[in-house]
Amino acid sequence: MKIVVLKFGGTSVGTTKKIKKIAEIIADYKKKNYKVIVISSAMSGVTNELIKKSCEISDNFSDSEYDVLVSSGEQIACSLIAGRLIHKGYKSRSWLSWQVPITTLGEHKNSRINQINKNNIIKYLRKGGIPIITGFQGVNNENRITTIGRGGSDASAIMVAKFFKADRCIIYTDVEGVYTTDPNKLKYAKKIKVISYEEMLEMASLGAKVMQPVSIQDARLNRIDIEVKSSFIKKSGTLITKRTNIINNKIITGISSTQNDSKVSLIGVKDKPGVAASIFKPLSKNSINVDMVVQNISANGKETDLTFTIKTEDLNKTKKIIQENKNISYRKLIFERGVSKISIIGVGMITTPGVTFRMFQTLANKKINIQVISTSEIKISVLIDKKSTKKAIIALHKEFKLDKKNEHKTF
Ligand code: ADP
Ligand code: ASP
Ligand code: MG
Repeated sequence: MKIVVLKFGGTSVGTTKKIKKIAEIIADYKKKNYKVIVISSAMSGVTNELIKKSCEISDNFSDSEYDVLVSSGEQIACSLIAGRLIHKGYKSRSWLSWQVPITTLGEHKNSRINQINKNNIIKYLRKGGIPIITGFQGVNNENRITTIGRGGSDASAIMVAKFFKADRCIIYTDVEGVYTTDPNKLKYAKKIKVISYEEMLEMASLGAKVMQPVSIQDARLNRIDIEVKSSFIKKSGTLITKRTNIINNKIITGISSTQNDSKVSLIGVKDKPGVAASIFKPLSKNSINVDMVVQNISANGKETDLTFTIKTEDLNKTKKIIQENKNISYRKLIFERGVSKISIIGVGMITTPGVTFRMFQTLANKKINIQVISTSEIKISVLIDKKSTKKAIIALHKEFKLDKKNEHKTF
């Protein structure tokens, strides 16, 4: 059975007009004799609206009810897609995750798909049907609806491709593929023809919303090639695949940025063993994700300064936790909202010396101050003033020769 998995994001099913358009894409694959499995997200904006409603009801809305509520957007989109296909004369129906079923493990709001029952869908495909399956949602062993994290329908598609051993897995979205940086923020961004799982994972984790990081991890583990392309323009997109499939002479593949980071600094912390653990333990217990961390070398051996970054939405909670922490003492606590993390990513930096210097020098030339640095084998991230984000991306994009051809002069 030649199976293709087609995933449509919220932007691709945002209006009934767009749904009519994607129904044509689905029909085209059916005409090419593929067995087509569709995964859909909710119409764009719907999930956010539902989350807003839950916040209006309670500032401590139940996690299990949150999953029932926010997963409902996918049900609407799937029935509209199936309805359009039926209108066009195809056999189609919506499948909610519990009907498949797609089972998940883990906590509400952030579960992981662990099993997909193939039987019902295979029978339906054999009868010529086009199943339209809800992304983002699952069902747990207590028969409760779960969700798998924001942007999770990407991961639903990858897992469906894995369980059904699909020939192809295509992520349809509102841009033509994965770009060197967000094409909606920088018009000189260039479409990347092929990118490794490792680079895509870094780009996604560091702010490139086009793919959800968990989905890339799942694809890498299961060696599933992903094609990312536009729902609106018929052009080749980006292939996400294993590193050995790629011939690349670029040092840097892409640049990502985050916008909603905040910086927390504890000045004059008593420097003794276990102090960092005392600060971070209660944060981790409260599911606050600490990102970049720097600790100064203690000049007098008694006191040190410690800085770390978190998501701005966690700032108030973090403030409270630190202020109520009886196991630490410090002289001053500083919070700063307006910071942004800029990262350059590329496997080429493993073998090319001097990339760090080039990044720092480029930012220095633009008089952009670096506040915190973190690195891995294939990425360098710096924390800067949020106001300089665009300036930094433009300068780095140019320095590492990522601009679209012939457009360098325009700077
Ligand atoms: P979907 O609704 O299809 O899931 P998303 O909004 O989740 O779409 O992701 C697509 C968006 O990702 C694009 O509109 C684009 O603004 C953003 N984006 C951020 N970084 C990148 C990048 N490097 N390449 C392509 N798109 C990016
Ligand atoms: N609708 C969900 C969200 O907005 C899942 C997705 O878009 O992939 O997060
Ligand atoms: Mg998305």
